[in-house]
Amino acid sequence: MSVLHSPPASAETGDSAYVSACPVGCEAPLSATDIILPEGPLLRCPDCGQLVSQITTARYWETMKQFDHPDYNQPGAPSQQERGSRVAQRRLNTIAALLERRPQDIRLIDVGCSRGHFVRAAADLGFQAEGVEPAPHIAAIARATGLNVYSGLLEEQRFPEQSFDAVTMFEVIEHLREPRTLLAECCRILRPGGVLLLSTGNTASWTVAAMGARWDYFDITRAGGHISFFNPQSLQRLAAGCGFAVVRIQTARMKFHERGEVPAWRYTPAKIAAELLNYPARLLGRGHDLLAYLRRPQRAGTTS
Ligand SMILES: [Zn+2]
Repeated sequence: MSVLHSPPASAETGDSAYVSACPVGCEAPLSATDIILPEGPLLRCPDCGQLVSQITTARYWETMKQFDHPDYNQPGAPSQQERGSRVAQRRLNTIAALLERRPQDIRLIDVGCSRGHFVRAAADLGFQAEGVEPAPHIAAIARATGLNVYSGLLEEQRFPEQSFDAVTMFEVIEHLREPRTLLAECCRILRPGGVLLLSTGNTASWTVAAMGARWDYFDITRAGGHISFFNPQSLQRLAAGCGFAVVRIQTARMKFHERGEVPAWRYTPAKIAAELLNYPARLLGRGHDLLAYLRRPQRAGTTS
């Protein structure tokens, strides 16, 4: 959802590029692609395929402001909320199964929890659920509903080592030029054997193959702060570089347009095509959503 909402005091400002190296940590220089955004061509890492925006530092922080607006991430229509709850429950059940524990015995924190939809779903299932959200107004809205939500960055909470059984982080890492710092902190606060679940968009998806520069995930105006775009390989490399073992990386869902974004005569056939392609996309790793279940190994250097 969101990560930082105002530039740190030491941040460079102005017209310099916000990202200058592969966020996954590869050393090879980035090269231009033929995906042309208003910020300039997306850059690609030759080692892991990560795509990176050429946004300026000033524009990056400008687009991040939307996450603290009181209207941000309001609950959607009832059908959307229902779908959201079903997805959250499925993910929470998977976490419990991987940990082989009852929800009551699982302490979980959702990083970038926004209004706390996932924290609420976890609490409803009996998890010891907490959240952390850097946008101060949105964090306060979440707390006002009775949820245990902290304001600020995860790193600022200074949780003791091995405090949590599970960490979740949805649509956060695409905002970060240095995601390794946050993943390392997740690893530190997880107990050995603990699970990190994270999600982001998939640039290896058929959605991107069809939409190219028009993929809404690339649109910095709609999707504030999106600067770093993953594929299954780059996500795997990031996870391994931060000390995690990969339990499972999966993709899901085809999507071409949102309702209302294009005329009905274009939306309806595209929606039908997306529904038909959902299943093969999932099988072949070409879905729009990229989801990774990762685990802090029991002992350093092992993968179980
Ligand atoms: Zn790379």
